[in-house]
Amino acid sequence: MPEKQYDPQSLELKWHERWNNDPSLYRPEEDTARPKYYVLEMLPYPSGELHIGHVRNYAIGDALARYKWMRGFNVLHPMGWDAFGLPAENAAIKNNRHPREWTLANIEAMKRQFRRMGFSYDWSREIATCEPEYYRWNQWFFLRMLERGLAYRKEALLNWCPECGTVLANEQVVEGCCWRHESTPVEQRALTQWFLRITEYAGELLEDLKQLEGCWPDRVLTMQRNWIGRSEGAEIDFQLEGSDRKLRVFTTRVDTIYGATCLILAPEHPALAGLIDDAQRVRVKQMIDDAARQDPGDLKKEGLFTGHYGINPYNHERIPVWIGNFVLLGYGTGAIMAVPAHDQRDFEFCKEYGIAIRPVIRPDDGDLADAATMTEAFPDYGVVEESGQWSGSTSEHARHAMADYARLSGFGQPAVTFRIKDWGISRQRYWGTPIPVIHCPNDGVVPVPDDQLPVLLPLDVKITGKGRSPLADDPEFINVTCPLCGGPARRESDTMDTFIDSSWYFYRYCDPHNSTEPFDREKIAYWFPIDQYIGGVEHAILHLIYSRFWTKMMRDLDLVPNNEPAARLFTQGMVIRDGAKMSKSKGNVVSADEMINRFGADTGRLFELFAAPPEKEMDWTDAGADGAYRFLGRVYRFVTRNADRQLPPGPCPGDAKALRKLHQTIRKITDDFETRWHFNTCVAAIMELMNELYAVEHDISATVMRDCLRNLVLILHPFAPYVTQELWEELGHSGPVFKQRWPSFDPELAKDPEAEIVVQVNGKKRATFAAPFATPDSQLQAKALAAAKSWIDGKQIVKIIVVPDKLVNIVVK
Ligand SMILES: [Zn+2]
Ligand SMILES: [Zn+2]
Repeated sequence: MPEKQYDPQSLELKWHERWNNDPSLYRPEEDTARPKYYVLEMLPYPSGELHIGHVRNYAIGDALARYKWMRGFNVLHPMGWDAFGLPAENAAIKNNRHPREWTLANIEAMKRQFRRMGFSYDWSREIATCEPEYYRWNQWFFLRMLERGLAYRKEALLNWCPECGTVLANEQVVEGCCWRHESTPVEQRALTQWFLRITEYAGELLEDLKQLEGCWPDRVLTMQRNWIGRSEGAEIDFQLEGSDRKLRVFTTRVDTIYGATCLILAPEHPALAGLIDDAQRVRVKQMIDDAARQDPGDLKKEGLFTGHYGINPYNHERIPVWIGNFVLLGYGTGAIMAVPAHDQRDFEFCKEYGIAIRPVIRPDDGDLADAATMTEAFPDYGVVEESGQWSGSTSEHARHAMADYARLSGFGQPAVTFRIKDWGISRQRYWGTPIPVIHCPNDGVVPVPDDQLPVLLPLDVKITGKGRSPLADDPEFINVTCPLCGGPARRESDTMDTFIDSSWYFYRYCDPHNSTEPFDREKIAYWFPIDQYIGGVEHAILHLIYSRFWTKMMRDLDLVPNNEPAARLFTQGMVIRDGAKMSKSKGNVVSADEMINRFGADTGRLFELFAAPPEKEMDWTDAGADGAYRFLGRVYRFVTRNADRQLPPGPCPGDAKALRKLHQTIRKITDDFETRWHFNTCVAAIMELMNELYAVEHDISATVMRDCLRNLVLILHPFAPYVTQELWEELGHSGPVFKQRWPSFDPELAKDPEAEIVVQVNGKKRATFAAPFATPDSQLQAKALAAAKSWIDGKQIVKIIVVPDKLVNIVVK
């Protein structure tokens, strides 16, 4: 057959159409006896436009899915849409288009692009989180959590983004600013909100990170550890002078307690109610408002003396009780003991207000500082001094001993506190899951009964983007009959944080059309945990902590058997273009459509995998893409012209070389898929194989050629599915390539041929050894010296003569 020219557009469209007309092509079998593999890329937000920066994530997942199919696994590889959220609302305000309409149109557009890229998704499992069939289960889970006290309501000062016009979770605040509006400082507002008690699981979320070591990127594990932020310390009660009330403080440095010179309470601390008068109350209110307007990073420390004193239970000293704007109600107990000599923040506060400074820790090899001349705190561990019976012990020892003493004496105990806070999930937004509760004047908060789910999000509302949820202004939605007393009541008008949608979506893929429960437990037991989860590192602490929490919560409801959602996590590197970050404002974004029209989907996929190791940043250049395009053309022409060329039956002189290279390449790629994922070197290896095949093209037997072409197509398939499917047909085979068996390699055939090296000592043959051809002289020398050891020991080596691939002669005297 004459060679054909590579025309990706017509070739890809042909297969694109055939694949689209076969909806069960990528559907796994409902056969739990088969080994399974669940590969998942994080579900995208349907922005409407797929660009080359997104393609990488999916190309990695798709290569893996195809490889695992070929290794005989029952592969689950689904895709869906994280379809609720702000951009749809913003677009609605801007373009006067309903968020649902905008979202569904975007989903259609992106789905078309996904299909055109040739990704192997089982679309029968597709989910969109904005559909009632999905979000009703958000509501169902919420009600289960409400029953167990894991969902609760409280008034709280919350992060408020004036740009978004809504509350932000702590995870959505980046350096004091909104995660979406990087230059907008977050404000504090007091609102009654719904929270999920993620802190209930803080210890377990931290502890179980150990199970993920080596399977999740270290960076992600570290970020999660820091976010959960476990501190070990002690809770200590200070008696209020002249009262039977106590103030409880949390400290990680109880070893410094003899240096405590005041107590400081958060301005919102409930104990203040009975401690301060009206004038002070006004000043505290002012303090809270002022603090809200400042960046938490450079908050000006402000304090107010309450006029009261607390008694230090260790030395019975009376110390003043202050209010400080920098003390957080949510950390520890909302009250601290200030030890200015050993904490820089306390030092600055006490200096400012003329409160005593008293050093009680000295460096291991130094003296106790003089309070009068201190210019900054000494925060390190050291030796405890001026501290009664603990004087002379190390900080490390005293921390534990003094906490135990507090427990034995009944005024405190060792304690652990976490940095992570409960998850505030109320949003004053329209495009999200309605929170399924009713507020009744007689009965208070009443859960919507299960049989009335879903609480449907009404479609005809006025969206303003400001202030409270538009649902509050929709009388048909808001006015209901109380399920308990039958009287008039109001629905909750806030919607849920969209991170709830993505906390459990991957379970729904296993049973996407179940209308009686979120999913069938048996199906989860088969498919979970996810074998390989793939996504951006930017989700290390938001999505990936929430979904771990959700899994543990569902496990405790006996809905799932697994502790963790994903056995392995991979975070791909970013795609940049010509060395610069891609952004709309720079106008350097390449859309997937543009890329496909110019090069074809295969080229785009291949180049994104070839240009860098998948975890590293990848630089898209047109020249690079062109190189990948030319390589695929080279493969295509070679296979088509040799597909049924008349060749000698063999053996031929080029056979061994061709087979060796082929088996080496299979070995390398197999090894890479199983371990390192260095797909860039895999593609490079296939390029080398092509070079070898070109070199022996006219020197090779029919059998070996057939073997080489067939296997070449198979091993290239995960990286370039269209052209390999076409070539598979050209070679006279039928059926999807990904359903073929992955080729095995023969270690004997893969072995490099070796030369026999003769070792001479003073010209006399003493030994031989085998070494690969073209082994460098220095390595041959070293091996020869070892082989001839008994003939040269104790002698002086005069010189060594190396004849490459043949001989090493050692001259001694
Ligand atoms: Zn914002
Ligand atoms: Zn009622």
